[in-house]
Amino acid sequence: MRTLLILGASGDLTGRLLLPGLARLIRLGRADGLKLVGAGSDDWSDEQWRTRIDGSFATAMEKADDAGRASLQQVRDDSSYHLLDVTHPGLADLVATLDGPVAIYFALPPSVSQKACSALGSESLPPGTRLVMEKPFGTDQASAHLLNEKLAKVVPEQNIHRVDHFLGKATVFNILGLRFANRILEPVWSNLHVEKVEVYFDEALALENRARYYDGAGALRDMIQSHLLQVMALLALEAPSSLHERDLRDHIGSVLRASSVDLDAPGSSRRARYTAGRIGDRQVTDYTAEPGVDVEKGTETLAEVTVSINNARWAGVPFILRSGKALGVTRKEAVITFKPVSHLPTGFKGEDAPTKLRIGFGPDTLQLEIDVNGPGDIFSLDRTTLSTDLNDTDLLPYGEVLEGVLAGDPTLSVRGDTAEDCWRIVEPVLKAWEEGRVPLEEYTAGSAGPDSWPSSHGG
Ligand code: NDP
Repeated sequence: MRTLLILGASGDLTGRLLLPGLARLIRLGRADGLKLVGAGSDDWSDEQWRTRIDGSFATAMEKADDAGRASLQQVRDDSSYHLLDVTHPGLADLVATLDGPVAIYFALPPSVSQKACSALGSESLPPGTRLVMEKPFGTDQASAHLLNEKLAKVVPEQNIHRVDHFLGKATVFNILGLRFANRILEPVWSNLHVEKVEVYFDEALALENRARYYDGAGALRDMIQSHLLQVMALLALEAPSSLHERDLRDHIGSVLRASSVDLDAPGSSRRARYTAGRIGDRQVTDYTAEPGVDVEKGTETLAEVTVSINNARWAGVPFILRSGKALGVTRKEAVITFKPVSHLPTGFKGEDAPTKLRIGFGPDTLQLEIDVNGPGDIFSLDRTTLSTDLNDTDLLPYGEVLEGVLAGDPTLSVRGDTAEDCWRIVEPVLKAWEEGRVPLEEYTAGSAGPDSWPSSHGG
């Protein structure tokens, strides 16, 4: 038997993402022998908690075969709920009664998670207890460091899962497979041949009533500090000797330690906020008019930073990371742009456009844009795209996170030193923005972003 204890059982994350992800895992027979326990400050009976589970398990129930349905039903029926202020010692008492190994999921506001960690202690925890921490992990490098110290007193680093649900396991291994299992790529994967690397996460979704969280975070903290730096690390890391979490996370750590933003370089960071506009048939309100937004905070809804990786492989290659909301075009991809050929034989006609490799995330796709002598004039260079869809995982992102947690496999989790480094990289940018050294620009909701940004014109 193993136990998943969710703290914050009544919260949004639990209902909308965790329980559906878990349901998918159970349906696929990948979470056998699991006991699900909820805890929170709502005065619920076990049956009220199970009703919540029913809502989140519904889709998986519909899709399941008989065996899957039976497993889902069993987890639901065996589940229990505990009324608890998780910041009090009663938390440690509860955990001590559970069948180990216990995975404790902190689906709580960050400040409450910290207090809950203090309430846990380490003495009475069942062997193999895992702690699952949500983003944001701290608010800067110093607070992430303190949180790491606090967690280290409770369980070893190996048992701490700092969740980054952005890249599923399939996507991570797709990137690694592409890079390291293809002889033609590795020799050109460096500053000798790569002009620039861009990572985009542009979404059409606007604030969607999330002002309470988002207005305190903004696009840089919400997406770039955590998720996009991880993508960058996968694109830039040296070849690990194995896919074991230690090798992989050592290499991710190494490349992030070499990374920084050169604030003196023009355009090294940009920020903007959307104004009212239309996205498809949807009218989007000006960000500053959204309920719960504090205009004084000057929160950006679109951010871009250019990261330098100061090592032999990547010196001189800009890694441009950009993410924003309420944009007209949804764009979730990494684009590797190669340098022009050193000499194009004279006589060719047409544009000698750079070779580009595009790696799309969710759905995972791969596209190679190259020049060929297409049909018609044999001297004319034409652009063509070699394209393939990569296998998408059966699991929802949180299903993959939970599978790793339940198996005690931290491969997809962010290691403590890396979590601190990601803050170190963005902190000077945040400071420059706070001091007004980079203007807060505007873009119309539904547009491609500020017109003056090169990244608004496609990559
Ligand atoms: P919510 O505010 O919706 O839920 C928080 C939960 O914590 C509620 O169930 C709340 O219960 C409970 N809680 C708060 N204080 C206590 C306490 N002292 N004792 C027991 N329970 C308590 O937050 P979210 O679910 O949105 O977010 C949870 C975490 O997940 C955050 O760290 C967030 O950053 C992260 N996250 C959320 C995402 C999302 O889409 N929601 C996406 C990615 C990360 P009550 O309401 O009764 O106080």
